[in-house]
Amino acid sequence: MSSILVYALHYDGAFNKNSLGAVSEGARLAGELGSECHAVVVGERAGLSDELCASLGSYGATKVFRAEGPEGLAQPVVDAMATIISEEGHGYALFGGGLLGFEIGAGLTARLDAGVCMEVTSVRVEDGKLVSERPILGDSSISDVHYRADVGVIIGRLNAFEAKETGDAAAAVEDVQVEFAPHSLRARMVTRGEQRGADVNIEDADILVAGGRGLGKAEGFEALEELAGALGGAVAATRAVVDAGWYSYAAQIGQTGKTVAPKLYLAAGISGAIQHKVGMQGSENIVAINKDSNAPIFEFSDLGVVGDLNKIVPKLTEAVKARKGG
Ligand SMILES: Cc1cc2nc3c(=O)[nH]c(=O)nc-3n(C[C@H](O)[C@H](O)[C@H](O)COP(=O)(O)OP(=O)(O)OC[C@H]3O[C@@H](n4cnc5c(N)ncnc54)[C@H](O)[C@@H]3O)c2cc1C
Repeated sequence: MSSILVYALHYDGAFNKNSLGAVSEGARLAGELGSECHAVVVGERAGLSDELCASLGSYGATKVFRAEGPEGLAQPVVDAMATIISEEGHGYALFGGGLLGFEIGAGLTARLDAGVCMEVTSVRVEDGKLVSERPILGDSSISDVHYRADVGVIIGRLNAFEAKETGDAAAAVEDVQVEFAPHSLRARMVTRGEQRGADVNIEDADILVAGGRGLGKAEGFEALEELAGALGGAVAATRAVVDAGWYSYAAQIGQTGKTVAPKLYLAAGISGAIQHKVGMQGSENIVAINKDSNAPIFEFSDLGVVGDLNKIVPKLTEAVKARKGG
């Protein structure tokens, strides 16, 4: 039965949530296929300890292929995955999404003459094969994508797959030698960092406080930053406000921004347009503050507060601080 190879991106001694979600999803699907989920990691040997690699076993990977090579760049990972797949015969390659996942997945597809589906939000097993589900037409419909090639490449929408720790099993770690193509070593990592808001990576944050045009002006974000700080979360924004220059593009959520799935998404002064909704609808709990009781966001909120955010947000911040004893 076709086994699944998942790319796991690490940074600063940890795998990111998106990669852990992909490993969890790979393990779930491999279980249904009666096969195995393996992971591949590429980077400097010093940053990839046995312990770190083996920890992917807690998310269901049975084996981790460790390749020493340039970190955080797409082409070396394409080389590593193509080598492993041709030697081990994996039937599928799975990525959690994000820019790097898209770039590696596309390169691997071209290299292996594989079938590919991007922006996948769900995968199912049908007749012993994987079928990717991908939203289309502004997320109003879902299309099923079947694979005919020997290798099927599945590139998830960022954070579409939930990271689930299933135990404390350690994955076997196997070192692989990869011959990198000359062009794969032409790019060089100059500097590496993460875009952060309130010291938390927006895509990995458990709590997001998002602001829209209802804030009235750029300064309106100061109150949201204070609330996010009190809650230990990060600040996000709609396209309307980043286009207006009120907040940075890095914080934009939605169709042309980032996809997030925090435990709490608190939307202040956001109408809930479909293009915003597609980027945050996977949030566990959605709380909306809007002065218009007919705002579309209330249709998909778990808790709706009708009122003026200028009055509610500072009071909420005060209450959170009081609760936390500061
Ligand atoms: C191709 C395309 C791609 C797009 N991509 C994205 C995307 O990625 N992300 C995205 O966000 N948008 C995107 N958009 C834009 C999207 O259609 C909306 O225009 C945008 O999301 C609206 O932003 P908003 O909710 O901040 O503003 P508005 O729609 O203007 O809503 C402001 C809300 O604030 C409320 N309000 C006003 N004052 C207060 C107050 N004092 N207290 C409480 N509530 C108040 C109002 O009642 C209103 O509901 C895209 C559009 C297109 C065409």
